[in-house]
Amino acid sequence: TDATTAAALASAEAHSAHNYHPLPVVVAEAEGAWMTDVEGRRYLDMLAGYSALNFGHGNRRLIDAAKAQLERVTLTSRAFHHDRFAAFCAELAALCGKDMVLPMNTGAEAVETAVKTARKWGYRVKGVPDGRARIIVAADNFHGRTTTIVSFSTDPEARADYGPYTPGFDIVPYGDLEALTAAITDETVAVLLEPIQGEAGVLVPPPGYVAGVRAVTRERNVLFVADEIQSGLGRTGKTFACEHEGVVPDVYVLGKALGGGVVPVSAVVASADVLGVFRAGEHGSTFGGNPLACAVALEVVAMLRSGEYQQRATELGDHLHRELNLLVGGAVRAVRGRGLWAGVDIDPARGTGRQISERLMERGVLVKDTHGSTIRLAPPLVISKEDLDWGLDQLRAVLSE
Ligand code: PLP
Repeated sequence: TDATTAAALASAEAHSAHNYHPLPVVVAEAEGAWMTDVEGRRYLDMLAGYSALNFGHGNRRLIDAAKAQLERVTLTSRAFHHDRFAAFCAELAALCGKDMVLPMNTGAEAVETAVKTARKWGYRVKGVPDGRARIIVAADNFHGRTTTIVSFSTDPEARADYGPYTPGFDIVPYGDLEALTAAITDETVAVLLEPIQGEAGVLVPPPGYVAGVRAVTRERNVLFVADEIQSGLGRTGKTFACEHEGVVPDVYVLGKALGGGVVPVSAVVASADVLGVFRAGEHGSTFGGNPLACAVALEVVAMLRSGEYQQRATELGDHLHRELNLLVGGAVRAVRGRGLWAGVDIDPARGTGRQISERLMERGVLVKDTHGSTIRLAPPLVISKEDLDWGLDQLRAVLSE
C-alpha cells in the first residue's frame, strides 16, 4: 500500500476500537456512485453505505438543502419548534400513508422507539397486563446494536458478552408463517420483521409471507412493525419492500437513506392510534428531528415522491439480477434479492466473502461481505447502467481468476 494509506490504516488500528474490519481503502472524496481514495484511485461504490446512499454521494439536491439549512439554523432541540419540523413530519407521514412521525437519528434508536411504542400500545390500548408484553422477531434478524436489540439477535458475534439481556422477545424462523402464527399469544403486542433480511444476506422470504404476517397480525390484534431501514426508500424498486406484497404495516421503522447519506435521520411512522400513545416526557432525543435532519429528509421525501428512483431500482435491478443469475451454477451458488439489491453466495472454494471483496477492491469495486462467502451488492440507485455493467465485469473477472 501507498504511504498515505498505510499511515491512515496504522493510526486507525492503534486508536480506534476494532469493532469493524474495513477494507484497506481510505476514501477522500466521492460523487455519484464513485469514490476516490487518498492516493487518487477511483472506486465504484457497490455498497452505498449499507443503503444509506441510495441517492448517491454528493447528491446536488441534498447537498443544496443541507447547505441552505446550515446557514439558517441547525439545532433547536425539541424544547422548541422549528420551521422545518412540521413539514418534515407531515410529508413523511403522507409518503407512508400514515398520520404521525416520531423522529430519531440512527436506525437502532428508531427500532428501540418502535419496541417502546409497541409495548406502550400493548398496555394502554390492547390491555396486556403490565410487564407482560411480548414481541415476536425472526431468527437471523438485524435491527441494530443496542443492548435490547442484541438481546433478540441470533448472531453470537452480535450478542455474546452483552448480557444480561432484555427479556420479552420470542424468536421464530424467518419466512415460516405457521411458526409465527403459533407463537402469538394474548400477550403478544407486535411482530417486528425486516420484509427482506439485509444483513442476513439479502434473504427474501417465500412469496405470501409478508402478506400472511399482515393478515394474521390484523386478525390477532398485534402490531406489524416493518423494519424498512435497509429495504425501504427505493432500494427494492418500491418505496417500501412491503409494497411488493401489497402490504401496509402498522408501523414503519425508517433510517439510513432517510438522511440521504448526509446526516443520520431515522423515524417511526404510524397511525395516531399507535404513535398517539406517547405523552410529553415519555420519550425523546436531543438531535431527533433537528432542523438540518428535517431539511435533508424533506428533500429525500420529495425525491421519493417522484418515483424516479424506484423506477431506476426496478430497471437496473432487473438487469443486475439477470446478469447475476447467469453466473449461478459456476462460481456463484445462489443469488437473492430484489431491485438494486443482491446477496451473492460465492462457492466457498473461490474464497471467503472477505477475499472476494478484497479482490474486487483491487479492481476498483467496493463491496462488503456479509456472512461466510456471501457478498452484498447495493450500489447507489443513481448508478449508470454502464458503470453497473463495468462493476459486473469486475465481478466476473474476479470469479474467473
Ligand atoms: N435495521 C436494519 C434492517 C438495518 O439494516 C440496520 C443497519 O444495518 C439497522 C436496523 C441499524 O441501523 P443503525 O446502524 O443506523 O443503528
